[in-house]
Amino acid sequence: MTARLLIVGPQGSGKGTQGVRIAEAFGIPVVSTGDVFRANVAAGTDLGKQVTSIIDAGDLVPDELTSAVVRDRLSQPDAGEGFLLDGYPRNLAQVMHLDEFLGGRDEALDAVIALVVPRDESLARLTARAAEQGRADDTAEAIETRLNIYERETAPILGVYGTRGIVDEIDGVGGLDDVTDRIFAALDARGLRRRSAD
Ligand code: ADP
Repeated sequence: MTARLLIVGPQGSGKGTQGVRIAEAFGIPVVSTGDVFRANVAAGTDLGKQVTSIIDAGDLVPDELTSAVVRDRLSQPDAGEGFLLDGYPRNLAQVMHLDEFLGGRDEALDAVIALVVPRDESLARLTARAAEQGRADDTAEAIETRLNIYERETAPILGVYGTRGIVDEIDGVGGLDDVTDRIFAALDARGLRRRSAD
């Protein structure tokens, strides 16, 4: 069966890690806008050149550009049976773009996993990641910008999806496996079946 999923959570909530686990279990691709942008920056493409300074500052890439990238990715054959979106939509305008695109294909999201992690905790995890990985946008300033954007622009999208009854709030504090189990339990309860559960 298909599963069209979105994972939402503040930076440092572990959504990247959980996203990969969920996608594997359901046999669907992860569509991470952050990864797509970073790959383009690394490869020096035109898109990469357009977005480098925006990403390093922790600001949002323009909505039209981001939505075009996502439409393109979701149009590829491997996303036909489902996908897990990570990092998109990130504001209400992008929610509208995604609605329009999926609606045009008679599709809709099945579930939105909202990872709940207190700001102090995500800040601590991001600072640790900055020390380990040295990502260009993991400076204290860019981290602050991204968390502020999350609270101001991204958190409100949960209100919209909430009225559709598709949001599962998951406590993101605890061991990685515990969090994964919580997510699987919530998706199971929606009747969304994992490959590995066959
Ligand atoms: P994080 O969750 O740590 O902020 P991401 O990998 O999701 O990291 O995103 C990295 C950067 O890529 C963002 O700070 C932003 O500049 C850009 N980006 C990713 N997704 C979007 C999006 N949906 N809209 C606009 N910009 C985005």
